[in-house]
Amino acid sequence: MKYQGAVYRPPSEARSLIIQVTLGCSHNGCSFCPMYAGEGFKTRGFDEVMADLKKARVEYPHVRRIFFADGDALCMKTEKFLPLLEAAKAIFPECERVSVYARAENLLSKTDEELKMLKDAGLGIVYIGAESGSGEVLRRVNKRETPEDIILAVKRAEALGIPASVTFISGLGGKELMREHAEETGRMIAEMGASYVGLLTLMISPGTPLSIDLAEGRFQPLSTHEVLDELETILKYADCKKDCVLRSNHNSNRLVLAGTLPHDRERLLAQVRQARVDESRLRPRGFRGY
Ligand code: SF4
Repeated sequence: MKYQGAVYRPPSEARSLIIQVTLGCSHNGCSFCPMYAGEGFKTRGFDEVMADLKKARVEYPHVRRIFFADGDALCMKTEKFLPLLEAAKAIFPECERVSVYARAENLLSKTDEELKMLKDAGLGIVYIGAESGSGEVLRRVNKRETPEDIILAVKRAEALGIPASVTFISGLGGKELMREHAEETGRMIAEMGASYVGLLTLMISPGTPLSIDLAEGRFQPLSTHEVLDELETILKYADCKKDCVLRSNHNSNRLVLAGTLPHDRERLLAQVRQARVDESRLRPRGFRGY
């Protein structure tokens, strides 16, 4: 396959066929995000996507999963997105699910009826970058969404049978908002009822607005121990009422955690506390490139 620009996908879609149905991100404004810097946003036409699907059919005899890229493909209007799901299903009848990155606002702009149609046409999971449960952190990083938006979007998707995989970024509040970021993130995890939660750790990319805040002293990043403190607080507040698979196995994380909330919460908390006194439980510093 030939792709346009940089292509990103969730780690769990590593073996999926990736088809770009949009280019870039419709928001492209989060202060920490280097993904589509300098790139405009564009929705690809039906014929262009069809050509990619047909080409992929020739190249790949068995496609179990498809990921529709780029940054928030679900921003497409339902009347444009639905035919793409139907085409994917027709061309790859063996495909078990199609997934996308979505912003909360993408989901909230669609009615329940529309989301149900997308689910029935093959939309099998949505990946949402919540980043923080704190409204102040979201405001400062220019997420242009509120915690209430995100919670409502996740609840609606889950209620309609579309599992949500939601990521948060440890350290995103810096030292100043560390406590608020951790407590509110834990509360959001408990309340929103997502099937999956991923915890990443902030890595500040050169050229982003956040890197300028760092250079000019407006943002103080957390130490490794502070990230662990934050993780402990997130877990303490993440009092989930339904099963939520939690992972912190992204390349940005020094401590790898895997479990299901609420059952594994005490074990995960013990792992965090052990890592605080025993650095050998952490991935080496160089692993995440700092
Ligand atoms: S919504 Fe996602 S892809 Fe778009 S700028 Fe923010 S973090 Fe980056």
